[in-house]
Amino acid sequence: MSSEYEFKTDTTKILDIIINSLYQQKEVFLREVLSNASDALNKVRIRQLTNEEIFDEERELEIEIILDKEAKTITIRDYGIGMTKDEMVKNLGTIAQSGTEEFIKAIESGDETLIGQFGVGFYSTFLVADEVDVISKSAIPGEKAHKWSSTGQNSFSIEECDKDTRGTDIILYVKEDESEYLEDYRIKSLVSQYSNYIEFPIKMGEDTLNEQTALWRVSPSEVTDEQYKEFYNHLGQFGDYTTKIHVRVESPSLFYGLLYIPPTKNKMFNQQDSDWGIKLYNRKILIDDKNKDILPEYLRFVIGVVDAEDFELNVSREVVQSSRMQRQMKNYLHKKILSTLEDMAKDDGEKYLEFFREFGPFIKEGIASNDKFKDRLVELLRFHTTHEDGKDGSTTLAQYVERMKPDQEEIYYLSGFDLEALKKSPHLEYYEKEGYEVILLGEAIDSFLMMHLHDYNEKKFFLIDQDESVELDPPEEPKEGEEDEEPKKKERTGPIGKLMDRFADTLGGTIADVKTSDRLISAVARLVTPKGGMSSDLQRAMKIMETQSGSTMSLPMMGKVLQLNPEHEIIKDLNEKFEANADDEIIDLTIHQILDNARLADGDVPDFNKMSKRVEKIMALSLKK
Ligand code: ADP
Repeated sequence: MSSEYEFKTDTTKILDIIINSLYQQKEVFLREVLSNASDALNKVRIRQLTNEEIFDEERELEIEIILDKEAKTITIRDYGIGMTKDEMVKNLGTIAQSGTEEFIKAIESGDETLIGQFGVGFYSTFLVADEVDVISKSAIPGEKAHKWSSTGQNSFSIEECDKDTRGTDIILYVKEDESEYLEDYRIKSLVSQYSNYIEFPIKMGEDTLNEQTALWRVSPSEVTDEQYKEFYNHLGQFGDYTTKIHVRVESPSLFYGLLYIPPTKNKMFNQQDSDWGIKLYNRKILIDDKNKDILPEYLRFVIGVVDAEDFELNVSREVVQSSRMQRQMKNYLHKKILSTLEDMAKDDGEKYLEFFREFGPFIKEGIASNDKFKDRLVELLRFHTTHEDGKDGSTTLAQYVERMKPDQEEIYYLSGFDLEALKKSPHLEYYEKEGYEVILLGEAIDSFLMMHLHDYNEKKFFLIDQDESVELDPPEEPKEGEEDEEPKKKERTGPIGKLMDRFADTLGGTIADVKTSDRLISAVARLVTPKGGMSSDLQRAMKIMETQSGSTMSLPMMGKVLQLNPEHEIIKDLNEKFEANADDEIIDLTIHQILDNARLADGDVPDFNKMSKRVEKIMALSLKK
């Protein structure tokens, strides 16, 4: 008896997209199906190792491709783990959820190379077939065989059937105009192009089509550049890699590693995703497809294979995780990756800078997570600075310190959410005038980074958006018994003292204080953090964590000090107006607008509605004059 099932809605949609959009890359179907067959075989091998019962025990672990020109079918047969009826419904009825959204985005962008980066999986068979049958029998003893069948439209059917061997047959009824895939030579060339490194024999008749080399176990002197690249592509990456690390380590125990640093972040994962990991083998047997214990997390952009000779043969993940050997391997690889990056930085600064532009946030994360090689990571940092040579983001801390002026004691930096905005910040005016170089930090992770970077080469880091003014009359500590008294209202002195009092009255609690500063040149005003107040780095970090936890509540502007530029025309004119007529409407409007402008300069977002109403009023008033 056959039952009919609908595909999940999403699946139908994506199926449609796949079939219609990937027309130039139809051949990917073979790679996808062979990779599934290989996964299925590996699962049987793991069962063998853990002495679990297996149906059809004696059967070889291999894949067969059978071409039938008469029936116009391609059959890909594996003796792998197979699927039960329920597994068929679940696995072949929905497209892997992960990356679905990204996939649709990539399709919409129309960028073929981007589309190519997604494993489109089993459904790619419908690129070349107008009907697909899947006949499968689970390797778990006692399960019945079933046949899944679909034309790739809205539904599929499943019925019980006979099958004597373990595993899965995928039968493709090849479309009229795709008959090239029924030719031996075409299939042979596709296997050697895409699936050469599959670890199980892929047979067609008497021929074995793939080399099955464990490339990582071959001596580096015998591996060609082409092979390295092929293997990189076999790992699911496209194009070429930035650098590779190929090691054979003998002591304390033998293991092999072949790791790659890709040129760009894998489009499939962003920085938070857990979709990363090294392929971990034990004596050429894959025991973990995405091992996260063999590299520190911040190095999750590294991909590749690690193969150990002597893991305890009970290959459960927990054992791998906790073993001493795992720790030694991790330490070795960690150091090796660092020295590779250090060498790159030394030998080819341009190439390293390109690496850092893409993966800098990961290096910063390493420092912010207090990695044990923090000191080495710090040397790998590159910065944008206000100096001519630092505009391309290539400045090291060593170079910065080297360029420091003789009287300069601290390393000046400014951080924010946007590098371009930072370059125009009023905080820089004074430092530019005096010829001090300032490091500009515009990435989200920078605020976390700076909480873990206090000094370099005995020079302290100094965030330049802090109040520099010296307190001439520190407010008196309240004497005992006097606490109940109203605090004395601060009277400001100097040429614009009265105007400053007015600023304080008008702006009330939104700011902590009003002062003047001689550190401003073309800017009317700026906001600084008061001495001993919460640093803007910490405030930003809190803001980031808050938005990540899904809360939309924005942080209030933490009591900042508004510094005015007493030499600026606007302040002078405002003061004149104020002295002539303190009730003039324009005065408070201008005061509020000065504050909002200062907030904008810091990348803070004032209330736009209020602001545009206010600007309209100011315009109206100035036009009436
Ligand atoms: P992915 O391989 O990325 O998970 P696919 O669409 O290629 O996505 O396959 C979906 C699922 O179907 C697989 O994860 C696997 O569980 C199952 N599957 C596919 N082919 C086979 C096979 N030859 N043997 C056993 N299970 C398979």
